[in-house]
Order: sequence, then C-alpha cells, then structure tokens
Amino acid sequence: MPYISLNPATNKTLKTYTSWDGRQLVAALEQAYHAQRTWVCTTLAERAECMHSAATLLHEQVDEYARLIAIEMGKPLREGRAEVEKCALACDYYAVHGDHFMQNELVQTDANKSYVSYHPIGIVLGVMPWNFPFFQVIRFAAPALMAGNGCVLKHASNVPQCALALEQLFRDAKFTSHLFTTLMIEAADVAEAIASHNVHAVTLTGSETAGREIASHAGRHLKKCVLELGGSDAFIVLKDADLEQAASTAVRSRFQNCGQSCIAAKRIIPVAEIADEFLSLFIEKAADLKMGDPLSETTQLGPMARLDLRDDLHQQVTDSITQGAQSVLGCEPIPGEGAFYPPSILDRVTMKTRAYHEELFGPVAAVIRATDEEEAVHIANDTRFGLGSSIWSRDAEHAEEIAQRIEAGCTFINGMVRSDPRLPFGGTKASGFGRELSYHGIREFANIKTVWIR
Ligand code: NAP
Repeated sequence: MPYISLNPATNKTLKTYTSWDGRQLVAALEQAYHAQRTWVCTTLAERAECMHSAATLLHEQVDEYARLIAIEMGKPLREGRAEVEKCALACDYYAVHGDHFMQNELVQTDANKSYVSYHPIGIVLGVMPWNFPFFQVIRFAAPALMAGNGCVLKHASNVPQCALALEQLFRDAKFTSHLFTTLMIEAADVAEAIASHNVHAVTLTGSETAGREIASHAGRHLKKCVLELGGSDAFIVLKDADLEQAASTAVRSRFQNCGQSCIAAKRIIPVAEIADEFLSLFIEKAADLKMGDPLSETTQLGPMARLDLRDDLHQQVTDSITQGAQSVLGCEPIPGEGAFYPPSILDRVTMKTRAYHEELFGPVAAVIRATDEEEAVHIANDTRFGLGSSIWSRDAEHAEEIAQRIEAGCTFINGMVRSDPRLPFGGTKASGFGRELSYHGIREFANIKTVWIR
C-alpha cells in the first residue's frame, strides 16, 4: 500500500509515495547502525550544537512546517506554528541540559569508588501518530539523539510529507548522515524492524491496539519498549471552582487540535451544585469556536485528520445517545467533502454509554455529572486509562490532596494538562508505560551502568 498524503479539508490527494520493500528496510537500518557508531564518539557539546541548529531551523521554517501540517492533517496554522515552536523548545532544552543528564552519579557504597554512568543503547525505532506530526517525533528523537543514540522513524501513513521534512531537518542541522532516518514502511513491517539486530529499542505513541502489538514484538525479541497510548482524561470541576476559567480551559483542552489529543479533557466531571451553571458556560464558549479552512488565520477548529476517524467518532456518539446520553451541542457531521465535525457536547453520560468507557478522539466532550467530590474522584478513576487529569477548585491545597488519589501520569490543578520538556510525560494502566521528556525521557534509552572499584 502506498503512503497517501491527502488534505482532510478537501479530501484531495496531494502526493503518493511507494512503500519500501524488505531490502530497502534492511539497508536503511544498516546505515543507521553505522551512523550511530560514529555519533556515539561525539561529545555532548557537539551533539548540543546540532540540537541547537535543529531548533534554529525549526524557528526559521515555522511557517512552512505549519502549512505542511495543515494540509496533511488539518491542524489550523496557529496551532501548527505553536507545535513547531514547541519542538524548537524541546531541542534547545536537551541541548542545554543533556550534558548534565548524562553525567556520572557518584554513590557511596563499600567500594573505594562507585558510580552510575549513562550510555546510549543504539538505534531507537519510533512508531508515531499523525496528531502532532512534528512534536511527537521530536519528543522521542531529541533526548534519544542527545544521549548518543540513532533514530529511525515509522510515521503514520497519512503524514509522509511531515515525516520526510523531519528527516531533512536533522540532515540540515548537520547530524551524522543517516543518524535520523524516516522509514517508508507500513505498519505490518514494524515487526520486521523490531526484530532487526540493528534496532535496540522501540517507542510507540499511538493506540492501545498498536501498543499491544508492538509490545508483543518487543517482548519476543527482548527489546526495550516505551508506550504512550490513549487517554480519557478527567476534568473535575469542584463546587468552589472559578467556573468562568474552568469552562474556558475545558474548551481549549477538549477542542484544540480538533479534539485529537491524547491529553485532552475528554471526561468533564462537574459536581452537582455547579453542574448546570458550568455546563451553560461550557456550551456557550464551545459554540463560539470558529470552524473552517485550516489555512485561514482565524480558524480555531479544522477538519478531523481522516474521514474514517470521523465516521468512527460519530458512531460512538450515536451509540452513546441511544444508550441515554443527551446531545447538547453539535453531534452531527458537517456535510461536504472535508472531514469536518463540529464542537460537540454529550451531557448525562453514564456507565451505560460508550462515551463513558471509550476514548473519544475528536471534538466531542463527555459530561459525567457527579453527586459530590467523592463520586467525582471515583468516576475519574473508573477508567482503563491513566494519562492526565485536572482538578478545578479555589482551594488548591485541598485539590492537591485529591490529586494524590487520582490514578494518572499527571494531575494539573487549575490548569490545562499539557506536556513540557522540563516535566516527565506518560501514563499508567492502558495509557502505557515509560516516560518521555525531562531527564526521565533521556534515560529511557540509556544503558544505566554501575561501575564499582576497590
Ligand atoms: P495508531 O493507529 O495506533 O497509529 C499510530 C502509529 O502506529 C502509526 O504510525 C501507525 O501506522 C502505527 N501502527 C498502527 N497499528 C500498528 C500495528 N499493528 N503494528 C505496528 N504499527 C502500527 O494510532 P492513531 O489512531 O493514529 O492515533 C491516535 C491514538 O494515539 C489515540 O489513542 C491517542 O490517544 C494516542 N496518542 C497517545 C499519545 C500519548 O502521548 N500518550 C499522543 C498522541 C496520540 P499507520 O499509520 O501506517 O497505521
């Protein structure tokens, strides 16, 4: 099957690429391995220089990249620029802190001297999704490269132009030739890449189904594996919350990137006392979002990334309504060529509905009303997922106590869940395992080695 670059706003094909055969894959992995053998000999200062160059190029080419993202997966230009700037931030972050993160750590033991040292493990295969087609890649590649590894990328098949632009970016930033390679392979060929003796670890950001598949291949071949999977983040609104602020943030968190974010506020959980007031603010603000051409500067909501994803989402919505949820905004696809779906809100979502249990990966919020704070915490944890969560209350100390009881990779109090290069990112339960970003991210793909000397 070829790689097809298709504009989801118009449903027109932009470009097609032929997928590689097995021979091309083997040759590329061999080249990547040799490039990493060279790269491992560079100093951290030399690696930092390349990483800063990548950041500079990202700044310089921000408009070009944002346009590419817009036409391939429908992200509005404004959001695309923000994504590219965030990539630059992450590259600079690892350029500045990589040396410190990789330093030996002395440990007092019965030895004359003992310490922990950090070494690259080889080639890291990144299997990445289309929703943040630049940032998801930089998030694994920047720390992995800084640690001295090489990277090979199997990107989502609907963003080949972004995938090739990233390869070019690392080439232009003067990283060792072939150190970062985009593999034009299909999902079915990922198993072969994992099995290769030239691949030493794999990291996936994607669905639970792909996670299970990739983890099983990694297990079979005893390769290190990190999984960043789906989420259905709780957004708890307590009775003393600043409702205006909470509603504005809920709109941003749920509907940015047309709702296609793993850490979007997918389950909105207001407590009974303020549920009606909060919901009317939330509906009013969501209805105000301007949907349209992702290439227009004023657009806030573009199309979804693919028509099949919109169809799947709408099926979840209609099933949930049949099961008792109430549509209070949107909930009908926009007719026409593009994969447009309006900002939508389902109220009265209960355990009996799909929207309660499943991730809604698009612009649909599920409102689950809780009788009180205790029930809100129960609902927040009553999910297979455990990625992000947020709590809204004027009593931040009390919200902090509640945060300790939420089973998730992060809890934000009075703020929107987002990734930040300085903080670890990842989930628990069916949201995956392992961490990206911060010093935790760089050490996921390092051999943590003990040295003991008497
Ligand atoms: P997906 O279908 O799992 O695709 C992600 C990547 O995995 C793509 O490159 C895809 O290739 C590949 N892939 C799919 N099935 C595979 C298989 N059986 N074996 C090997 N590779 C396979 O995910 P998606 O639907 O595009 O992305 C949305 C999901 O990702 C959501 O669940 C979302 O929450 C999650 N996500 C998580 C995070 C996080 O940080 N935790 C961030 C973003 C998204 P093809 O495109 O060729 O199929």
